[in-house]
Formats: sequence, structure tokens, C-alpha cells
Amino acid sequence: MHKRILIVEDEASIRDMVAFALRKADMDAVNAADARAALVAIADKPPDLILLDWMLPGMSGLELARRLRREEATAEVPIIMLTARGEEADRVNGLEAGVDDYVVKPFSTRELIARIRAVLRRSHGDDGSGSIELGGLRIDGPAHRVYAGPTQIAIGPTEYRLLHFFMTHAERVYSRTQLLDQVWGGSVYVEERTVDVHIRRLRKTLEPYGLDGLVQTVRGAGYRFSVVA
Ligand code: CA
Repeated sequence: MHKRILIVEDEASIRDMVAFALRKADMDAVNAADARAALVAIADKPPDLILLDWMLPGMSGLELARRLRREEATAEVPIIMLTARGEEADRVNGLEAGVDDYVVKPFSTRELIARIRAVLRRSHGDDGSGSIELGGLRIDGPAHRVYAGPTQIAIGPTEYRLLHFFMTHAERVYSRTQLLDQVWGGSVYVEERTVDVHIRRLRKTLEPYGLDGLVQTVRGAGYRFSVVA
């Protein structure tokens, strides 16, 4: 099935150029000229990836990224930001808003397609089929299901997102702030303590299967998903 890519860009010439390149690369392109049109398109059918221009009339690309990360239906849709600005502060702001990658204008469509493919691969695990298998756990991404061996596990939506993030970023330590940014979308309404609560819940979910040890506390640093005890 073709990947559906939403292009949010107010400059028609860039939009057309990107849409043409996407179709040539066997992907479906959906166009939106501003954030409002993007939200309508997303409500109609969530895309597999969003190309988001930083400078938009009305709601900025950054504001839209934050909003999409906060909402359940779009929290996991990868976002690549198109930006004319390469400044470090903008990158940091974007990463805090949950953006997955950047492409700086002017860009070649070849580079853009390569980045899109890389982000899609990353967000769907290495086999590209939407499933991730690690440490006795398996996530069926499209079905939004988690299995311990052959058994399906009942899991809450936040724990699911947390586990999904951990399994696609295994063996790396993340601070509470980084987890908030990545899993909760950097929402200012969520406290760091919330992370601990959901880590506890996630461990409790995995405990009956003897897999709670996969979620490790790294003293003074944060948490890590590791298959190494
Ligand atoms: Ca623009």
C-alpha cells in the first residue's frame, strides 16, 4: 500500500514540486496550504507522515506540531519539518515539540525522499512492516497491539506509546524530560512525576509475563529499555 504523505506548505511551487517527487517515489501526496487545512485533512484520514513547513500563515508549523503530538490520533505520526532556518535554537524547539527530522530549504527532492524513507523505517521498526520484536515482546503497530510471546497484553494508550518509544529506541537512556518530549509531546501541562507513574504502570503491565525487568531505572539519569539485565 502506498504511504500517504501530508504536505503542509503555503508556497504552491514547493508544494507542487514535493507532491510530484512523492508520486514519482510511489507515495500518495495530500496538500494543505495552512494548519487549518492540515487539521481537516488529518481528521479525514491520518497520514503516514507529515511534511510541515515552519513558516505558515496563521498557526505556525511549530504550534501545529505541538498540537498534533498532544492528540491521541496523531501523537505517533512522524513529522519532518521544512525550514529555511538552520539555527540551533529552532532545531531544539522543534525537537521539544516532537518533530522527528528536519530538512533545510532549499533542499533537493532526492534528499527529501531519502529522509522520508528513513523516518518511515524508524517509526515502523527495522523490518518496515510496522512490527517490532524485542526481548520477548512484540508490537503490532498497525493493529496497535502488544504481545508477550503468543499472548496479547492489555495496555493503556500512554503505556503503549511509552513502550513503543522504548522498543524503537532500545539500549539508550532517556531522562524524564526527554521522555516527556518524545512520548507526551513536550506538553507543559504534564509534570515529570507523571513519567514515573506511567513507568510504574508499564512495569505492572509487563510483570505477569516476567518482562518488567526490560524497563530499567538508571540512577540519576532516567530510564532505559534494555534486553541486557
Ligand atoms: Ca512558508
